[in-house]
Amino acid sequence: MTSTDQERWLRAKDRLRAEVGEDIFQSWFARMELDRIEGATVQLSVPTRFLKSWIHSHYMDRVLACWQAEDGHVQKVELSVRSAVIRTAPPKVKTPEHVEAGRDPRASRIDAGDVRSTQLPISTGHDALGGSPLDLRLTFENFVIGRSNTLAHAAAKQVAVARRGEPVMFNPLYIHAGVGLGKTHLLQAITWAGNDGERKVLYLTAEKFMYGFVSALRTQTALAFKEALRTIDVLVIDDLQFLQGKSTQAEFCHTLNALIDAGRQVVIAADRPPTDLESLDDRVRSRLAGGLVVEMGPLGEELRLEILKTRVAAARQYHPGFDVPAPVLSYIAKSVTHNGRDLEGAVNRLLAHNKLTGQPVTMEMAEREVRDLIRPQDPKRVKIEEIQRAVARHYNVSRADLLSSRRTANVVRPRQVAMYLAKTLTLRSLPEIGRRFGGRDHTTVLHAVRKIEGLVGSDTLLAEEIEALKRQLQE
Ligand code: ADP
Ligand code: MG
Repeated sequence: MTSTDQERWLRAKDRLRAEVGEDIFQSWFARMELDRIEGATVQLSVPTRFLKSWIHSHYMDRVLACWQAEDGHVQKVELSVRSAVIRTAPPKVKTPEHVEAGRDPRASRIDAGDVRSTQLPISTGHDALGGSPLDLRLTFENFVIGRSNTLAHAAAKQVAVARRGEPVMFNPLYIHAGVGLGKTHLLQAITWAGNDGERKVLYLTAEKFMYGFVSALRTQTALAFKEALRTIDVLVIDDLQFLQGKSTQAEFCHTLNALIDAGRQVVIAADRPPTDLESLDDRVRSRLAGGLVVEMGPLGEELRLEILKTRVAAARQYHPGFDVPAPVLSYIAKSVTHNGRDLEGAVNRLLAHNKLTGQPVTMEMAEREVRDLIRPQDPKRVKIEEIQRAVARHYNVSRADLLSSRRTANVVRPRQVAMYLAKTLTLRSLPEIGRRFGGRDHTTVLHAVRKIEGLVGSDTLLAEEIEALKRQLQE
């Protein structure tokens, strides 16, 4: 490694610090080191697996972007755990007491990220089972309640305060919302609040569930993993839309059934309702839909303002000099409409700027700092049912007609229009759309989409109708 590599690394780190703010930088990146640069790959290391997985799941894109800003050739950043053994002392020799004290040496040689064998006592439920890392700030205390999340919050709270052995009120609790609307926050709040010693609450991302299962299979402890999972009282799974693979799904399905049948609580978050989880099979979907399904809507302006105030207050605990005037808060709440992550980003930037330059936060500075976070209003998420209803109303047929197998001209065209709109206004796949139109084949949907695409070029009346429907649906 050359000294210019090190210099670039220092500059990349400075960028990172400016972007995430000093606290976050100190918490996660202060001990990150550059190991080497090989071609277009930068190899970084951190001292613990925990740091690695945290940075991996939260900051990898940012780290890469900071490198790329310094060096356009960099394509990839890899993160590894530094082995203390190689760098410092000669390998530790296991002392005889060590072996005697532990039960089976194979069982006690466990990395934080691996799944523990059932031979080990599961003391602090979350860590012992290899749960995903939790963010200290994502608690109920810091969760602001507003119109869009009242129900989800109440349900989450209910789950969190329930005691072992009490009847479970809704199972699973399934929360869905778009990105940055507080799903992870609520799920982690449940985990923090629920792990009171009596109960074991385990928070896993779907990826972690897959990883745990796959690595357990590889090391032949799948049975132990399943057993361990079934000893917990509340299983919390985040970002279920990422669950993939036939055997993991089958395992997820078993775990879900086993837990629910045993009266244990399952909490799930995803970016879409259960019916839209296309890669899961029907039985799992219906089981998921069988509990309480709650959607969290976009953060309204008032809620955004409250979230900002909470964030600023939290930052002030560590940076007493940091102050954001009320008009600036209102301005950000009004203009940064996108989601909770951007609100957090906006506060971090103001803080970084304030810390680095020593200048107070002013409206002018805020306008400059958050400019790129101000995005045009997100297109509204349109539901297939809404499309079907709007089209049915427009053409004066019933929604049932659209889903039926009737092939008379007065329903065929509206059905094609509805399928076309479903394809263009939602992210649903052709097979999924087919299923939602009375179980049709994806080729039928494709045919409809092509047909309408062909027609709008020549048929101006149809083109206008479709535009009007789109506008109405997206309002
Ligand atoms: P999701 O998992 O839905 O993508 P997160 O839970 O990660 O979203 O939320 C993104 C950011 O917005 C986090 O910093 C979170 O603390 C914040 N946030 C979202 N909703 C709220 C809320 N109601 N109260 C306080 N903070 C919130
Ligand atoms: Mg999330």
